[in-house]
Formats: sequence, C-alpha cells, structure tokens
Amino acid sequence: MNLDDKVAALRMFQQRERRLPGYNEMLELFGYRSKNAVHKLVLRLVEAGYLIKRSHKIAAAPLLEGGPALAEQPIGFAKGGGQLPDSGRALNLLGIDIGGTKSAVCLGNQKGEIRVTRRMPAMPGEDPRAFKRRLHELVRAVLEQAEIKAETLDAVGISAPGPLSVPRGMLLAPPNNPGWRDVPIFKMVSGMVKAPVFLNNDANACALAEMYFGENRGIQSLIYLTFSTGMGAGIITNGRLVQGITDCGGEVGHMVLDLHGPRCGCGNFGCWETYVGGRNVAERLKARIRAGGLKTAIVEQAGGDVDKIDMKALSAAVRLGDPLALEEWAAFTDRLAQGIGALIQVINPEIVILGTIAIHERDLVMPALTAKLSKYAWNWPLHACRVVPSSLEGRIGDLSALAVAITGLAEAGRGKALHA
Ligand SMILES: [Zn+2]
Repeated sequence: MNLDDKVAALRMFQQRERRLPGYNEMLELFGYRSKNAVHKLVLRLVEAGYLIKRSHKIAAAPLLEGGPALAEQPIGFAKGGGQLPDSGRALNLLGIDIGGTKSAVCLGNQKGEIRVTRRMPAMPGEDPRAFKRRLHELVRAVLEQAEIKAETLDAVGISAPGPLSVPRGMLLAPPNNPGWRDVPIFKMVSGMVKAPVFLNNDANACALAEMYFGENRGIQSLIYLTFSTGMGAGIITNGRLVQGITDCGGEVGHMVLDLHGPRCGCGNFGCWETYVGGRNVAERLKARIRAGGLKTAIVEQAGGDVDKIDMKALSAAVRLGDPLALEEWAAFTDRLAQGIGALIQVINPEIVILGTIAIHERDLVMPALTAKLSKYAWNWPLHACRVVPSSLEGRIGDLSALAVAITGLAEAGRGKALHA
C-alpha cells in the first residue's frame, strides 16, 4: 500500500465513521505490527499535508489504547481554516490557470513563491484533445525548467473558467470555447502527473489566492470580485469557500437587481452582471450612442470607432469630463454599490477585494463606490468592512492555481475529496 492508498483508506473510514481511526484501528487497517509504525505513518501524513499538527506536542502524543480517535488528539485532519500545516518544507505545487485568451502553468510553493511560469495562447476553435496535448507539453516544460520530477509534485491546482463541476472534474461549457462541452479537465491533468489534482473556478480561486497570498492574507471572511468582460466572485467565510451544493456558491453576477433590466446572457433579466460586466456596459453604450447619434469623447477615446468602445474608453472620457461618460459612470458605480452593498449586508465580511477595473481606475472607482455603499447596507456591517483593490495584479492567475492546490490538500485532509 503506498501513501495514496493509505489516504484513500483513511478517507473511506472517515466517511463511514465520521471520524478518523484511532491508533489501534490503524494497526488493524494497515496490518501494522507496532504503534511506532502507525506513528511514522502519521508523521508522513502530516508532512504531506493530509494531517495537521494542532499543537507542538504531536511527536510526544501517542494515543492510549482505546483512546479517542485521531481527530480529537493534537494531530487531526485540518478543520475549518483550510490552512496547511507548516511542514517546514517547501511543497512542489503545480498551478494550471486556464483562461479565455491564454493558459499558464507554474511551479511554486505554499508561500506563493513561483519558480517557473509559462504561458500558451488560447487557440480559438481548438478541440479539447489538441488543447490537452499543448497543455501536457507546457507542464513538461515547466517541470523540466524547475528541475522537478513529476513524481515529486505534492499537488496540482487548476483554476478554470466556469461553469464547471468540481465533483465531476469537468469544464461544462467554457465561455470562450463555444464547442467545448463536458471537458474532463481533471482526468486530463491526472494523466499527466502523479499527484493529487484539485479544481475550482477562477473567481473562487482568486478569492483563495487573496486569503493565502494577498496584502490582506490571513483574513478568513472575504469577498473577491472582478469585473472584466463578465464578472466573477468568490466568497470565503470562516476560511472556507462558499461552494454551494451545485458549485453555484458565489455566482453573484446573476443576482437579479431589477426584473425590468436588460436581458442577461444567462436568460434572466437585470442580473448584476448586465450592469457592471465590461462587455454588457460597452454594448449598451454603443447602442445608445448609435441610436441617438450622440457626440461624445467616449467615441474619440475608442479611436473614433463606436465598435471599439470599451470600459477603458469610457473611463478615459470620464477623466475628460465628458457629460455622457459621467452619466454612464455614475450609473455603473451605483450598480456596483448596489451589488456590493447587498453582499456586505448578507455576508458581513471583513474585507471586499476588487480586481481589474478597481485596480486600473482606482481613483475613479473607489471614492464613488464607497460614497454610495451606505444606500445599500447598514452602517454596522459597512463600518466593519474595508473595500479595497486587489494587491495581486498580474500574479493572481498563477497564485490562484496554487491556492486551489493548497486548499485541495487542506480539504483532502478533512476527508472531503474536492476532485473527481
Ligand atoms: Zn444572468
């Protein structure tokens, strides 16, 4: 029985008994003759991140005969925090960040130190098999450059665009690959490495990256929001992601703010994303300018081409004091505040971290947003919450994939398989 088999046996025991086996039960489970052998296994499991040390007493805490189960002892499966034990060793974590325009593979550790990172462009229309081949080559190249053997990887984390199914390990319908349906990404990657593979959607993964590596790392109650083409969110409370029973936890972009609002890509009307997603804002703006034959600096900022209007052109025109741009910006920040206020009211987080536009246009977004929040949430949760731009710009892709690996190891230690 190798270590993976033993972990599997422990998980089965835990699922059945809702606790971990005690030492005597482990003797029987693994056919060991001495408790010392059990103790050595426990230490290996701690080092591999499957068990955590609850106190410094781990080495001096052999269990008594018939004593309580492992979980009640100083050594136990990680609970609640999703934190890995400090094993004193840098783990070899492979991060795979699958994106709409590019994918990246990196090799790093649990501190977010990245040794190697490589990217490849997305190929529109590429079939999943060809994608798999290119990804495999990239994985090999990264391992080679980092001088790491595939066998010595501790875990792999995949961050990928939703909708996806974590338990099934599948990308269901990635938005930028219209032909892809039910792509078994977990199986694909598992075939490339000999390490546990974990998967989560990109917005959840970014929230985890903020918890582990961001300027405000360590905060256990946070909301991460990003507004680029569409929007994404990850919600963490008590150190754990709100995953939901069908992986829809944190899909806040489809909270309906107004039934009479614009039609959303999801089929409903007035979803939050229709008001604050970059593509939606730009499309509505283009239509409005065309229909009214409006003269505005927004068009000039888009190079004179209405078709090229985007959030950048809008914010540039706001800086020039263009009346239409100012009106649209006010509507945008108001809807931003409405959604964020609702989330603060419901989740009562310690911090809300904003990506993309809040980073690039910090001075335009943050003051307007904070001024409007009090319309949408009580002062009590508002005053307890900071709303800040992300500090991880540029690195968040790689870090989010590593964060999925770390969470996966910590969750696996809790006996909950986060992979298919
Ligand atoms: Zn929607």
